[in-house]
Amino acid sequence: MDFSKTKSGTAAVWAGEVKPFAEGATTPPVFNSVTFAYDNIDDWFDSAVGKKEGHIYSRNTNPTVAVFEEKMRVLEHAEAATSFATGMAAVSNTLFTLLSPGDRVVSIKDSYGGTSKIFMDHLPRFNVDVMLCETTDHEQLESEVQKGCKVLYLESPTNPTLKILDLHRLIQCAKEAGTVTIVDNTFATPINQNPILLDADLVLHSATKFLGGHSDAMGGIICGRKELVEEVFRYREINGASLSAAAAYYLIRGIKTLELRILRQNENALKIAQFLSKHPKIDEVYYPGLESHPAHTIARQQMTGFGGVLGFSLKGGFDEVKAFLTNLQFAHRAASLGSVSTLVGPPKTTSHVEMTEAQRKKLGIPETLVRYSTGIENAEDLLNDLDNALAMI
Ligand SMILES: *Cc1c(COP(=O)(O)O)cnc(C)c1O
Repeated sequence: MDFSKTKSGTAAVWAGEVKPFAEGATTPPVFNSVTFAYDNIDDWFDSAVGKKEGHIYSRNTNPTVAVFEEKMRVLEHAEAATSFATGMAAVSNTLFTLLSPGDRVVSIKDSYGGTSKIFMDHLPRFNVDVMLCETTDHEQLESEVQKGCKVLYLESPTNPTLKILDLHRLIQCAKEAGTVTIVDNTFATPINQNPILLDADLVLHSATKFLGGHSDAMGGIICGRKELVEEVFRYREINGASLSAAAAYYLIRGIKTLELRILRQNENALKIAQFLSKHPKIDEVYYPGLESHPAHTIARQQMTGFGGVLGFSLKGGFDEVKAFLTNLQFAHRAASLGSVSTLVGPPKTTSHVEMTEAQRKKLGIPETLVRYSTGIENAEDLLNDLDNALAMI
């Protein structure tokens, strides 16, 4: 099946599902099999050395997992894709594959909390030189790339203040310098943004978030240039952070409704951002879909929708935040994002819990910031819920 002309809603349903499944099943079977048997020893050998298609052992490859990888490969317009047990496994396996002692990596200060730990605590132990730039300082990012580095690692929009990077500009700069560009596309999803169409070498996701979309499975994926993806796959199959068939099934099922969910979440988030930006108890709203966002024009150029996550700070102090959060009815006060149900939390207790108040301040994260990940509920109900919760403080 050729997906080069299909739209993402169609690809999300059909990609990876072109082979006849056992017994004519119309949904991918969950192959909970660790190992795959061969009666013909020559076939076994040919599969093992990659001369023939076929699975050997589920730490390496698995038919259910392969369906998930193929869906994401198509949705991200990539040559290849490989998956992981979690999003952090995707991040760490990719960085530890591409970087060796003596190499240099350039990234931003606002990367995802776990990623930032890899940059600050773990890569330096292996003598990798890490340069973290001010997140939206494009001149600094460009000049650091031009000084020479193996990898440029980007994220846009960022967590939790929804900063936007000009991906086209930074990727072109990296290309000229012969640097590999990786983009964490978790917040945008392939429905809203396709970094590979902007020439990124690799795109990665925490599939735990929007891709699965129901907060019931963890996973990670990288998509991109074949030789790079293969290199990372070779490391992951030995490192062992492989996605299970059971989790892959939930992710496959989630992806089938990805476009429907994201379009709704884009809509909900924009309505909520517009509502809150006029609310007297709100200090500031962070959402790239608002015209007042400092990089709204860039967001419009590189995104087709602005995503389901927004941030906002309340007037007052953390006591007001606590009261507001407990007053919400249609929101889980929980970590994570991208689920069908609304998830809400302060970065102070979730993504940036390991930092001090001073460190958060340096990143431009106010203590009264709330991250709000809209679910697929009806906007009217979410708006009423927010309005009531704010009225009660
Ligand atoms: C959650 C997240 C990750 C890590 O994914 P896990 O599945 O939790 O390991 C990486 N990047 C971003 C942007 C995330 O939101």
